[in-house]
Amino acid sequence: MVTHDTIAAIATPPGRGGIGIVRISGQNLKSLAQAILGKLPQPRYAELLAFLDHDDQIIDQGIALFFPSPHSYTGEDVLELHGHGGPAVINLLLTRCLQLGARLAEPGEFTLRAYLNEKIDLAQAEGVADLIAASTTNAARCAIRSLHGEFSSTIHQLVSALTNLRVLVEATLDFPEEEIDFLQNAQATEQLSQIQERLELVLTASRQGNLLQEGIKIVLIGQPNVGKSSLLNQLTGDETAIVTAIPGTTRDTIRQSIEIEGVPLHLIDTAGLRETDDIVEQHGIARTHAAIERADLALLLVDSRYGVTTQDRSVLTQLPKQLPILTIYNKIDLSGKLPHIEEDASATSIYLSAKSGAGMELLRTTLLKMVGWQANIAGEGAYMARHRHLQALAHAKEQLEKAATWLHTAEQLELLAEELRLAQQALSSITGEFTSDDLLGEIFSSFCIGK
Ligand code: GDP
Ligand code: ZN
Repeated sequence: MVTHDTIAAIATPPGRGGIGIVRISGQNLKSLAQAILGKLPQPRYAELLAFLDHDDQIIDQGIALFFPSPHSYTGEDVLELHGHGGPAVINLLLTRCLQLGARLAEPGEFTLRAYLNEKIDLAQAEGVADLIAASTTNAARCAIRSLHGEFSSTIHQLVSALTNLRVLVEATLDFPEEEIDFLQNAQATEQLSQIQERLELVLTASRQGNLLQEGIKIVLIGQPNVGKSSLLNQLTGDETAIVTAIPGTTRDTIRQSIEIEGVPLHLIDTAGLRETDDIVEQHGIARTHAAIERADLALLLVDSRYGVTTQDRSVLTQLPKQLPILTIYNKIDLSGKLPHIEEDASATSIYLSAKSGAGMELLRTTLLKMVGWQANIAGEGAYMARHRHLQALAHAKEQLEKAATWLHTAEQLELLAEELRLAQQALSSITGEFTSDDLLGEIFSSFCIGK
């Protein structure tokens, strides 16, 4: 699927700005450069030149940068024209490129070419998109680490440790009589458990990054007046968090996003779940249900003087069975209780006052704990893992667990070898050694044009 036709796109965002950039990539765009600039710019030097139209009229004047293949972002010849950032002038420039035979680039096509030409691997390409999409500082830090290849190199290290172990196991298969001794002498068990430990660390760090990127979806349940608004204000108040009221689909469906320690929390209010004949509202309810299906946690807010009500119970029955629930007994200043947490195998409850703020710190730490947030990893080692990466890591982990069982019983070494192979394959899919065109399409179509 490697193509080298020349592609062009405006790389700067739409609208007016100081600079507008048209980016062009292709196997040979020297003639295009010659036509627009009247010369081929010196590689990797910024040159101030006139950008010429077909009739030699000047379209704009700006900086031209020429990166000959293979030392460019895409690995092909790349030309960047930095002109003035007005929609009319930049469109003229783009049109000129298209007239000279370039094709309008698809979203992410420059980065796709970088991947296909092995300038970056798949996880790095995803890092590019995630960096552009990052909306918090933490998320941006994680993305740049992926882009820079830290995540990839961690995965490569795991893959190569696995390869060593596989070589050992496969070699052993050739000497059936001494199988067990051989593996024991080579400390195969230790090798495997080391790989497992490292994988576990990567998985944890990746989950953190995933939380930073996608945030946590929380269903908020509570009757009117139990203190939902007060609680949200408390949560956001001293954390310099952003409260955004995203216009609901119905009058009563509220969606808000707040941030705790840089982790985005998306709150879905179940006020929109009541029965109604209103068509518009029914659509809203369907959407609320869909949002609830994807939720990570339910927050049930009750008045500590009255406890969980019948209405609360009826809402609870509408939630997915496996959804963890955190019950908050609010208004303890009125019920005379002290802030505290009650935990048992089936439920967690927190007693607090949304008005005075007593118990709020407990709530914050519990919330983050329940969704698996680990502040110590967050700042430093978190990887901007996508859902796809988490699945691959979890898959590899499963295979290694099975492998450990086979190794432990020292039977069925063929199966052991097979599990190791599958684990390695799962890990390699992260950096893109085994990828389908469908997956590539899915990943790159979410990019912006010009990247
Ligand atoms: P919502 O309808 O669930 O959003 O509830 P609000 O946050 O609007 O609160 C309803 C009323 O309860 C307001 O007058 C709040 O000041 C009050 N309230 C909320 N939390 C507390 C609390 O912890 N103690 C007391 N005494 N009042 C509270
Ligand atoms: Zn309210």
